[in-house]
Amino acid sequence: MHRAYETTNLYVDRAFDLLGLGESYRTLLITPKRELRVELNIEMDDGSIGNFSGYRIQHDNSRGPYKGGLRYHPEVDLDEVRSLASLMTWKTALVNVPYGGAKGGIQCDPSLLSLRELERLTRRFVEGIAIAIGPDIDIPAPDMNTNPQVMGWIFDHYSRLRGYAPAVVTGKPIELGGSQGRSAATGRGCMITIREVLARDGKALAGQRFAIQGFGNVGSWLARLLYAEGAKVIAVSDVNGGAFNGDGLDVDALVKHVAETGSVVNFPGSEPISNTELLAVDCDVLVPAALGHVLTDRNANDVRAKYVLEAANAPTTADADDILTSRGIQCIPDILANAGGVAVSYLEWTQNRQAQEWPEHRVNQSLEEHMVAAHRAAAQAMQEYRCSMRTAAFVVAVQRVKRATDLRGLG
Ligand code: NAD
Repeated sequence: MHRAYETTNLYVDRAFDLLGLGESYRTLLITPKRELRVELNIEMDDGSIGNFSGYRIQHDNSRGPYKGGLRYHPEVDLDEVRSLASLMTWKTALVNVPYGGAKGGIQCDPSLLSLRELERLTRRFVEGIAIAIGPDIDIPAPDMNTNPQVMGWIFDHYSRLRGYAPAVVTGKPIELGGSQGRSAATGRGCMITIREVLARDGKALAGQRFAIQGFGNVGSWLARLLYAEGAKVIAVSDVNGGAFNGDGLDVDALVKHVAETGSVVNFPGSEPISNTELLAVDCDVLVPAALGHVLTDRNANDVRAKYVLEAANAPTTADADDILTSRGIQCIPDILANAGGVAVSYLEWTQNRQAQEWPEHRVNQSLEEHMVAAHRAAAQAMQEYRCSMRTAAFVVAVQRVKRATDLRGLG
């Protein structure tokens, strides 16, 4: 079985080795600071009792309050959440926002829950983790199967318990203190990053062919922004299946189709494509934007892209990463590629704390600056340490977290 936390640690270890950091730093910087598991019992609509497990793992807070999303998914467990919490520590450091790393979630299948059940479950979860979160302590955000409405319930419930506190959670609806540009932020950050990577290789974004797995918040926004930049989105998929057109899909029409039907499947003017086929499609940039661990030693040799842009968290196992690298395929790591979400979460939190509302262009400008700087730092480390972009990104992040840890001291 694939061990998510082990894989993340393996990537971090490579950076530790290059930086010559010993075992005590390894334990200090790799081990989560606090792990919370909460048992959630709610009344279901039919009167039965629903029992669920919720998690909040706080990995590191040397650079600022813990920060990271909440995932509602049947595969949520301690191992996965630990891995995702650790990734957040390195991501916030790389994109240089004053946060640490955390992650949480509930093991559940939200597609089987009514809206009211989802709300009850979320409110019960907030009661369970309220002792460990807060605007200066730990600030959750959306992830898979959680959205602005869920963040709104979290804000409301925490405020009932502790007093008005919009900065306790980001990714809220605009009407409740959410930021302009937050919904698109992760996709926009992915677009900016691949644009910078391509520019470094002397290529333009326009005309590049993209295949995107996952058409949720991240995948659909990325597709829209790429399309607007003149890139071709030739394949997309979701949990139900996929759509392919070698000449490029009309993404604006596709977004309408998904709004009407709930899926990319059967999009007029496209051929069906499975999720497995999508990963092996002939394209320039392959974008996993759904689940983790989809690129493994079993399919990495089938990848025909020149770049893998990790919009999803942890989509590539360590074996697959080695195979892709040896085949000259450049992986743009998750902690860089999808850092736009947390960058704009930081801007939302900043606005909440100052009771301000910024216009979208101000948010997007700041996002652009954070992403360009993060890419530049990773590219420089790549040259300096002669390593992959993934290891370089971790080198930058580990250096920053170590520096903050040293400056704060252990006394
Ligand atoms: P989402 O719930 O909005 O969308 C997920 C998409 O993946 C949907 O289209 C769904 O149908 C599809 N999907 C689910 N299971 C699948 C499967 N087995 N095969 C193919 N497709 C499948 O989630 P999201 O917020 O877009 O997050 C997607 C990824 O991006 C996750 O890995 C998440 O951790 C990462 N991420 C999200 C954010 C954010 O701001 N939302 C930020 C950073 C990273």
